[in-house]
Amino acid sequence: MNASADETPSGTGDGRKQVFDVVVVGAGFAGMYMLHRLRGLGLSARVLEAGGGVGGTWYWNRYPGARCDIESMEYSYQFSDALQQDWVWSERYAAQPEILSYAEHVADRFDLRRDIEFNTRVSRATFDDQTDRWCIETENGDRFYARFFIMATGCLSSANIPDIPGKDEFRGATYHTGQWPHDGVDFNGLRVAVVGTGSSGVQSIPVIAEQAEHLYVFQRTATFAVPAHNGPLAPEVQDRIKANYQDLRDRARRNRNGHQYGPSDLSALEASPEEREAEMQFRWDRGGLSFTGSFRDLLLDADANAVAADFVRRKIRDVVRDPDVAELLCPTAVLGCKRMCVDTGYYETYNRDNVTLVDIKDNPISRMNAAGLEVAGKNYAVDAIVFATGFDAMTGALLKPDIRGRAGKALKEKWHEGPRTYLGVATAEFPNMFTVTGPGSPSVLTNMLPSIEQHVEWISTLIGEADKRGVTCVEATHAAEAEWSSHVNAVADGTLFPSCNSWYLGANIPGKPRVFMPYIGFPQYVEKCDEIAADGYRGFVLRETQTA
Ligand code: FAD
Ligand code: NAP
Repeated sequence: MNASADETPSGTGDGRKQVFDVVVVGAGFAGMYMLHRLRGLGLSARVLEAGGGVGGTWYWNRYPGARCDIESMEYSYQFSDALQQDWVWSERYAAQPEILSYAEHVADRFDLRRDIEFNTRVSRATFDDQTDRWCIETENGDRFYARFFIMATGCLSSANIPDIPGKDEFRGATYHTGQWPHDGVDFNGLRVAVVGTGSSGVQSIPVIAEQAEHLYVFQRTATFAVPAHNGPLAPEVQDRIKANYQDLRDRARRNRNGHQYGPSDLSALEASPEEREAEMQFRWDRGGLSFTGSFRDLLLDADANAVAADFVRRKIRDVVRDPDVAELLCPTAVLGCKRMCVDTGYYETYNRDNVTLVDIKDNPISRMNAAGLEVAGKNYAVDAIVFATGFDAMTGALLKPDIRGRAGKALKEKWHEGPRTYLGVATAEFPNMFTVTGPGSPSVLTNMLPSIEQHVEWISTLIGEADKRGVTCVEATHAAEAEWSSHVNAVADGTLFPSCNSWYLGANIPGKPRVFMPYIGFPQYVEKCDEIAADGYRGFVLRETQTA
């Protein structure tokens, strides 16, 4: 195919047109690897990125304390052995600046930047039924035409800032963790409010508390946090892994969560109290997300779950000195049905004299005024407010642009009652459009790097195949999509995941349909994708129709 960029050299914002084989939106880990793969297939591709640089999540989330919750040696690409051998991580869990440097290194190493348009936000994309091509429009006024259109826009890239009455009246500074200023924020000597106690809050609260004159934490739902036990990554540990990196990667691929520590074989209901305690303590001491794998039935049975939840509550009460504060911090929901947080000194922070926990479960923040926030008639005067209030996850970035498929059908309209996809990569009536880690794929329930790589490889292989065979239109069928969507729901319904108000369900966004979006089970998913590809991409119609 190899359409060329025939009309202009770059997205100059002066309304010119460009033609490519593929347009990719987003230059995070997904978009970057997609570009590399498409080039390898000999296709012309252009990546459009709203930010000023590569790295996606790690470009935007520069809040204090930001770091990965999957070990660095695993939260990295594996497609290039030379890359994974060369790169040296300094900590067990890398901090945001180091992950961003890694993304930048990848961009340099594979010479990616020359095909990425930065500061370019896609506002609209329209499929032309006559030519089987997409027209992608940007806020700058440029138009890009392409046979294939890939949304690599991230599951957690659309910030959720609550609409609190009076927010324009506040005279201090406001921030969202996912839109953090590049030159940092100095909280020294300031009275600061942090709203939200999910992963971003849990990571930033201990660091902000060290700087602020006083920190008020506004907590709606108490969270489960497990210690990271972060520290420097010893060169000998790193060398040992690198000597047999494939082994680590293979072990991770066999687990539901895509990282090396899978669930134990123990059932909380069958094991003795001593066995249960030993397993939980072992995982607690190791640190990180593997705690949720303490029992094989932890996310299947409420009584099994309660064993682990009680363990964490005991740990909280051990650490937090004020018993009333400790009780407020003790979560009551099912452990793991929201993503567990991985912390460094989170609970200890509440022993500081300059930190106040404000419970807003029953009394939400009623308004913002010039001086701060009001809760239950009480005013909290602050100089700065940090919204650690999360994201319109999984569908937010996909639905922000106006995407129109066959006969002008709007994606917003199609997904009005929740997203419907085939394998999380495609949706019927939107031919030649693909989503990386879209709803209906394991994505956010896994270490995302292997999930991203698997998607990018699968989608690009399909595009390469279509190109070789002269196929101009690739479209998921309604039947395949319906069957997949009900399978995704059925698997989730067999677990405790849908039992709390998580962003996996869209429950954090007022008015968003309550649908469990990710698919539970990475190895089963990969197997399914491979089987479908081997079966001639069953569930897709591949058509040779109009010419360019
Ligand atoms: P992103 O990195 O989100 O990149 C998407 C890009 O698309 C962004 O740069 C965005 O600007 C761009 N974009 C979106 N819409 C448009 C548009 N309309 N026009 C142009 N550009 C657009 N996952 C883990 O597995 N382990 C972790 O430890 C972990 N830690 C995380 C920490 C934080 C703070 C957050 C928010 C997420 C974390 N995640 C983690 C999930 C993380 O999002 C993924 O691991 C991964 O970085 C996603 O890469 P991506 O390329 O798919 O999306
Ligand atoms: P989040 O998990 O959705 O947490 C948002 C927090 O804000 C919750 O405590 C939520 O309360 C609260 N909140 C939302 N709206 C509110 C409102 N109107 N009033 C008061 N409180 C409100 O978002 P996040 O912390 O940014 O994390 C999102 C995901 O990103 C994580 O689950 C994880 O996958 C990823 N992440 C990972 C890391 C890491 O450790 N590597 C760090 C950050 C993010 P409710 O619970 O009551 O809704």
